[in-house]
Amino acid sequence: MTLETLTKDERKEIQAIVEGLDNAAEEIRKSIAPQVHAIGAIEGIRDEFLMARGDLEVAGYCVGCECILFHGDRGYHYEDGEISCIDCSPTWADAEESFKAAAGDDEEHAEAYADFKSRMEEHVAGGGSVNEKIPYII
Ligand SMILES: [Zn+2]
Repeated sequence: MTLETLTKDERKEIQAIVEGLDNAAEEIRKSIAPQVHAIGAIEGIRDEFLMARGDLEVAGYCVGCECILFHGDRGYHYEDGEISCIDCSPTWADAEESFKAAAGDDEEHAEAYADFKSRMEEHVAGGGSVNEKIPYII
């Protein structure tokens, strides 16, 4: 069946099916409108709640203890995008172990490890310990 060979009857049959499906979708769209409106209202309340507490912005939840984290909190960013609170964050020594355990011979990992190593050495040269938490700002 191509556009050029469609008969009037085939067009009518296709139209009936397409209109039926469109109408079914529209009925569902109408039926969920109150829920969509309620979700918007709840999100507005959530935003006002956070705004009233110093314009807090939720960054996510700690991968370790699941506590809420805000942008500006101290914590740790993992390579896979997860974040942790400062209490659950790795120490410099922990992070180095993870780098070693994840050792691969891809260049990206080697560069990330070299970058980490130089920051750790800078931290230690400045009087820090490898047993301290790595202070990132979330
Ligand atoms: Zn935590």
